[in-house]
Parts: sequence; C-alpha cells; structure tokens
Amino acid sequence: MAFLLSDSVSVLKGVGPAREKALAKEKIHTLSDLIFLFPKDYRVLRVLPISEENCGVFGVFFLSVDSAPGLYSSAGRKIVRFSASDEDGGKVIILYPHQPYLIRQIQRGDKAYFAGTLTQKNGRLYLFSPKRYKDAPEDGKVIPVYPSVGGLSSEATGKLIAQCLPYLLDQIKDPIPPALIPARMPPRNKALFLLHAPVTIEDAHRAAERFSFEEWFAYFVRAHLFNKKTKTARVPGFDKADLSPFLKALPFSLTPAQKRVIEEIKNDLVAPKQMIPPMDRLLQGDVGSGKTIVCAAAIYLTFQNHYSSLLMAPTEILAQQHYRTLSRLFEPLGLPVYLLTGSTTKKERTEIFSHTQSDAPYLLIGTHALTEDSAKCAGVALAITDEQHRFGVRQRNLLANKGRATHSLVMSATPIPRSLAMFLFSGSHISVIDTLPPGRKEIETFYVGEDKIDRVYAFIRERVQCGEQAYLVCPLIEDENKNSPLNSAKDEFLSIDQKLPEIPKALLHGRMKNDEKKRVMDAFVAGEIKILVSTTVIEVGVDVPRATVMCVRSAERFGLSQLHQLRGRVGRGGDKSYCILLSSHPGKAARERLKKLCDCHDGFELAKYDLKTRGPGEFFGTRQSGFDLDLNLGATSMELMKEAQTLAETFVNTAPLEALAPYENKMRLN
Ligand code: ADP
Ligand code: MG
Repeated sequence: MAFLLSDSVSVLKGVGPAREKALAKEKIHTLSDLIFLFPKDYRVLRVLPISEENCGVFGVFFLSVDSAPGLYSSAGRKIVRFSASDEDGGKVIILYPHQPYLIRQIQRGDKAYFAGTLTQKNGRLYLFSPKRYKDAPEDGKVIPVYPSVGGLSSEATGKLIAQCLPYLLDQIKDPIPPALIPARMPPRNKALFLLHAPVTIEDAHRAAERFSFEEWFAYFVRAHLFNKKTKTARVPGFDKADLSPFLKALPFSLTPAQKRVIEEIKNDLVAPKQMIPPMDRLLQGDVGSGKTIVCAAAIYLTFQNHYSSLLMAPTEILAQQHYRTLSRLFEPLGLPVYLLTGSTTKKERTEIFSHTQSDAPYLLIGTHALTEDSAKCAGVALAITDEQHRFGVRQRNLLANKGRATHSLVMSATPIPRSLAMFLFSGSHISVIDTLPPGRKEIETFYVGEDKIDRVYAFIRERVQCGEQAYLVCPLIEDENKNSPLNSAKDEFLSIDQKLPEIPKALLHGRMKNDEKKRVMDAFVAGEIKILVSTTVIEVGVDVPRATVMCVRSAERFGLSQLHQLRGRVGRGGDKSYCILLSSHPGKAARERLKKLCDCHDGFELAKYDLKTRGPGEFFGTRQSGFDLDLNLGATSMELMKEAQTLAETFVNTAPLEALAPYENKMRLN
C-alpha cells in the first residue's frame, strides 16, 4: 500500500465519512495534515508503587482488585468504582466514568497493570480511567499523547499516524538547506518519525528541538525580510500633530507614562513635508496599563492627516471590545469605525469594503480576517497589532503590507523582559508604559489546594451576592478520555452548577462557534451572567469592571506571565478584587512560582522570573497545531533562538529569491 502526503485521510483504515468530516473540522484533510499533528506530551511507562509521593506522576501500577466493582451515578454519568492495592499494601480507588460495561470485565481478585496519573482527594488516592494491561508493559516505553481531534482518543490518533507515516517519510521535503541546519539535529523526516515514535524521551526532545528550530528559523527569516524592507521604504511624514480634540474627548487624563509614549509615537509619525522610514515600534505595558488609549492617539493622528488605520486583535472577543470602546470614542470625533471578523456576513463585508475603498479616512478593527487578500483597504497609513505574542511576524508583515508601506505599532500583551524583547524585535523601537492608571488596588492573590474548592465556591457566591462577577478558568476544554488529572471547563461547569444552582453562569471556550462566544461574552459584560467558566480564551485584554474574582484551576499548568494576564482580567473597576490559584501537588518549583505570583504584582518582574526559570518558551503561547513544544519539552532556549537568528540571516542573504518567496506570503511551510 502506497500513500501520498496529499491523500485524503479517508484512505486510512478506520476513517469513514463521519470521521473524515470530524477531522476536516479540525483542519485535518490530508495525510500531511495528520502527520504534522504533533503530540502535546509524552508518557513514560514505569512501574511505580502506590504512594502519596507519586501523586501527579504518570505511572504503571501493579494492583490486585480488592472489592467487587460497583456502579454509581454522579452528575449524569455512570461510574464503575472499586478499590485496589499494590503488593506493599498501598491502597487506591479506581474510577471508570462512562464505561459501565467494565463491571462485567473486572472482578475482585483480578491482578493487572493499571497505567494512569495518581491523584489525591480528601486524603485518598485515586486513578481515573487508567489503561489496563494484563502483562507488564515494556519498562521505559514512551507513549505520545496527542491533542484530541475529531473525537479520536490519543491512542486512536497514534494508530492512524502509524498506519501511514512510514510510507510518507521519503516524500517529506526539508524547507531549510542542509548546510543551515545545526549538525546535532536530525533531518526533518527523521525528526518527524522520532516525534511520533520515540524510543527514549531524549529522542522526542531532539525531534522537538528540530521543529522548534524550524519555527524560529522561519520567524527570523520573516523578521529579516521585514527589516530589510522597512529600512529602505520611505513614506510621507504627517503634517498635523494636534491631539487636543482627542484628549478633550477622553473620560480621564493620561498618566505620565502614557503621555511619554504618545510623544514617542508622535516623533515617529510627524515630520511635515518629509519622507521618513515607516514607524516600527513595539509598545509594552503591563495588563491594564492603558495601551488602548495610546494606540488610539496614534489612530487619531493618522485620521487628522487624512489617512486610515487598521487594528488587529488576536481574538474575536477582543476585536469586539476594541470596537465598542473605540467607536464610542471616535464616532463623535468624525472618524467612522468598522469591525471585520470571521463572523462578519458577506453582505456586511461588502458594505464595509465600500467604505474602506473610498477616500474618506476610517478605522477598521478586526481579527486576522484583516490580513486576507479579500479585505480591501485603501489609504491605510497605520497598522496596529494588539497582543502581539499571539501573532507571528507573518501577520504583522501582512498587515503592514496592506496597501502602501505603513507605520507599524505592535502592542505586547505579555510584558517581555527587555533582553528578550530587544532580540525578538531587533530593529524595532521599544516603548514601555511602566506605571498603572491611578486608583488601581492590588489584587489579593491566594494559592490553595484543589480540595478547598467548596470554600472557593462559597466565596464566589458571597461576591456575586454583592453584585460582583467571577471567572473560573480551567486548562482543558473537555476531558474526553476522562483520565486527565487536570480540570476541564465542561466538568467544572457541571460541578459549579450543582453547587451554586441559583447563580446565572455560562461556559466559554475556543471550540464554540463565534456567535455563541459573542452572546456569552455580551451577557457577561452586561452582568446577566455572573460566573464565567472558561479556558484561557478570556486571557487577553477582556475588560469587565464588575468582575472581581479570578479563580484558576490546576494553576501549576500555566506560566507566571499567563497567570498574571489572567489576574489582570479582574480589578478593573473600583472594587477590591481577588485571584485564587488552585493547585494540588504542584511540585516544589511550581509551588515557588505560584507563591511568587501571590507576592509580586509587577508583570515585568514576573516575566523576568519566567524567563529565568522556564526559558523563553513561556512568552509565545502554543503553536497552532497544539504542540506545546516549549511547555513540555523545553525545546526553546535562548541559545536555540540565537542560532536560528544567525542562520536565518545567512539564508536571507544567500538564498535565491524563489526560496524566500514562501516566507513572504501566507503559505504554510510544510
Ligand atoms: P491594556 O494595557 O491591558 O490593554 P487597557 O487599555 O484595556 O489596558 O486599559 C485598562 C483600563 O484602564 C480601561 O478600562 C481604560 O479605560 C482604563 N484607563 C486607561 N488609561 C487610563 C487613565 N489614564 N486613567 C484612568 N483610567 C485609564
Ligand atoms: Mg489591551
């Protein structure tokens, strides 16, 4: 059987029309898409004793079943439950939700190997849906864990990949010339094989490093190309520089830091009757430091000089919020504001483009939909990218290249330590807002065990009764295989609904349709919904003044900068606000990180701490494929990035134009 990279996934055994459709929803159409679905983690099979010390660790436990399995119902699910113990008498309770048939397959006195992550609750040890093996699994065997796609279990995904991968390796091309790949790294096809089928965990690390290198290489090639272009480009400087009508329209006066940064931007833009290099500026400021108003000042200057501006946000929620704030501010000043996102209808788009192609200046706010070729925007002189860490340089390029050469302002969501920022944005000028608007109260931050969740619920009820609102953030959307030690938003929603039935609440996560997300967010902003259970989709920029409680489950899974971002969602009104970090058995390093967050409220200091303790990976979020290279494997180091930067520069200076072309446009590089 021969397979081609371009074959549809339907050629695989086990992929019928329904599965094909489910995979297509996750943008997996071809075998190439499938094999570039990277594992998000690895498990190593090792036989361990049942003991408190092994909590939170994945292991294989050799157990005998002590009690006859019973069938229970809880929150609408049927659960098979029994107790078991290992040879040294370590006791554990085993639960299998949603698999009632197991009651016939497991008997008291059975001996078997159970693989899973040991957890603890109220002093007892548990295994949720452990995998059973009759014979001892191969010691040290490495099993990839895939993100759940198309309703497939991680194991099923692995099997599909194994079915075709060996036939495809020879067809995989390396986008990087061999001479520019560090000698220690495997070629691309070998790396892909090692990623899916590592013999040792070191294999997986080596492969991950290679792909991490590839990403950084592409990043820096694009950055070099961008810098080359902006160095030579010239645009007319602005003539007018009168911000007073804008400043008068603001409901508050600017902080000294905001004033200083606006002045820096003004200096970049205003140069009557001169041709100048386009602005290339990174704006950094802690959560809530008031970056939006600064970019609004730049938009106003652009408008005053009869040019238009684009503002791109990483999520639809954030784009809508900017639209609300900025249309309120600008419409009275005579600047029309439009919103373009993935859920803008065809009819609305046509209407919007009729305005954005005319001569009258406008502000167009949107998601990455702004970078699409079909987005027709004339007269743009300023392109702003909000919450930069979510976008690649690619989008920044695309946005800045819309129409003529444009001024570019990039606003970073996560404060990045200066050393890292200078390196990542080499060539850019950097502005920092280092003080918060007046009247901000420190957000009281606690760190408690997951077993205190009932007290946290009670606290949330108390705050809601005072008219306030709460966020509850979980690391997973859904625990499809019911065996993750992490809390999922869907389970959390059910459990808080049981505990606080009278309080209006809603679920929000990335897999919901855009209009559903918008409805939920609007209701939360309006105060109709009091508790929002979500994943980190609410992480960036969202501003709801009545929200005073941010509660994060499995907090040890998040980076400090990310937690600080989440914390920044509360404390935006006048009320005292709280951030509660829930975590069980986080390990020493994670515990120290969480403590650091309780004591420190300075985003830049936290970012430095993250950089020191977890490396630079923390600042870039996850790859779109879901492969969390940085978090799990530590594949990104400052050294690797520097290596990629140097080699990318060589590439840009020596490669033929056609080799550079893919980096200039939207093409995927696979
Ligand atoms: P971020 O830097 O996180 O994007 P925002 O621009 O969303 O922060 O600002 C956070 C909040 O602070 C907003 O509600 C905004 O209206 C308010 N704000 C911004 N600047 C000032 C200021 N100078 N005085 C008072 N409030 C301000
Ligand atoms: Mg913001």
